Amino acid sequence: MLNIVLFGPPGAGKGTQSEMLISQYQLVHLATGDIFRYNIKNGTELGKLAQQYMDKGQLVPDEVTIKMLNAEVEKRPEAKGFIFDGFPRTNPQAEALDALLASKNTSITCMLALEVPEEELKMRLLKRAEVSGRADDANIEVIENRIAVYNNETAPVKSYFDKQDKLSLIDGTGSIESITERLFKAIDAKL
Ligand code: ADP
Repeated sequence: MLNIVLFGPPGAGKGTQSEMLISQYQLVHLATGDIFRYNIKNGTELGKLAQQYMDKGQLVPDEVTIKMLNAEVEKRPEAKGFIFDGFPRTNPQAEALDALLASKNTSITCMLALEVPEEELKMRLLKRAEVSGRADDANIEVIENRIAVYNNETAPVKSYFDKQDKLSLIDGTGSIESITERLFKAIDAKL
């Protein structure tokens, strides 16, 4: 299996680049943010719980997120591989993901970490708010909180995969196509 963690701060372009990777490598896309938003839209218990955190730019608790992600992986036994987008966002989530994949006799192939300067992230998110309808994009304080949560809780996950020699840092600036090219190159080097 080819299992990719697409990593980066809010606004780094994970969603956009996931689309390119899915079609190139026939992967199943699991984006935790999208799954939470789907649950919010449908008024599920999980959605109600997640919304309280998401609206403030905080992380949904690990226990809830890990349980949901495990269930999504279990739903796709036919998958040739996964692209994890927005997960893992904490070291406990990374450990849970490793354990889940090990139980299926597979593992993470690589983590691709998109790097974008903070000022550009803020501009991209405010611009996205005009079309995304996402409350967490529309408010600069919430955006700044999301970036702070990323720096404090999520960025350490890079070291977790670096220790396994699986981390590739990718310049996330420039045209969408040029970033896609960089990602393809990094993946192909691991195949
Ligand atoms: P972005 O990366 O652009 O901020 P996402 O759509 O990936 O947006 O996530 C939106 C929100 O959903 C996060 O701010 C967080 O509240 C919640 N969320 C998504 N993934 C996770 C996760 N793995 N763990 C905890 N919370 C998460």
